[in-house]
Amino acid sequence: MIINLDLFFLSSCYYSLPRVTTDYPHKNFMILSLITSIVLSETIFSFAEHQMHENFMHKKVLPRRFYQKPYIILQEIFEGHAVRHHGVWYRDFDFEANPEGKNDNIKFRLVDILIVLTCLLPIACLFFSFSLLAGVTFIVMLLIHAFLWNTMHSQMHLPQPVFFADWSIFRWLAVHHYMHHQFTNKNYNIVVPLADYILGTKIEPRRKDLRELLRLGYLKPKSPKTEIRLQKIRNKIAAQREAILVG
Ligand SMILES: [Zn+2]
Ligand SMILES: [Zn+2]
Ligand SMILES: [Zn+2]
Repeated sequence: MIINLDLFFLSSCYYSLPRVTTDYPHKNFMILSLITSIVLSETIFSFAEHQMHENFMHKKVLPRRFYQKPYIILQEIFEGHAVRHHGVWYRDFDFEANPEGKNDNIKFRLVDILIVLTCLLPIACLFFSFSLLAGVTFIVMLLIHAFLWNTMHSQMHLPQPVFFADWSIFRWLAVHHYMHHQFTNKNYNIVVPLADYILGTKIEPRRKDLRELLRLGYLKPKSPKTEIRLQKIRNKIAAQREAILVG
């Protein structure tokens, strides 16, 4: 009721005249344009994430001079991700002993988000030209997307006992990214793998990946016996890692 009164108040302000009817056609329009903005911006981010991950984080598609002096940031992005995150650190998907490597390129920094925002500025303007609501939704969704990218990528490589660790959607996305670490030209998406499906870069786990995916807890074993065996393996590995960190 309170919400309805608020809407009534807002709509009255909007039209600058009091309304006595209980249905507000523009309220439905607002909800529809909000949902459309969310779906549309997420779709765009899925493709943007895919293309940026492929072309800037794994490949150097621009002419040589863009990886030198004034643009050195592009070289840094490539080295930080393709060379270090994939090639040097995280030989084990969920463990990195080197304190420097542990947090290297696990999260987008503010500067990375600003670069992404700059690239997407024309699209942001398009949303703003449609309506303020659409424009603001686009920006807010971009921040949510970056937040989810960071939160999930850290949880995948540095597992913590967080509330979503066992959610099937998270485990499914973790399998998706695990396979990206096996094939760096596949599964570029982290948050919404739509673009991987549409652009044909989706890869499913192979037989030989199943064991490790079971150990990571992303796949669930069929029998309780296997779960007990997995727990033993996990304990053993945890002890080995403890020894590496101490020694
Ligand atoms: Zn997103
Ligand atoms: Zn990764
Ligand atoms: Zn990558």
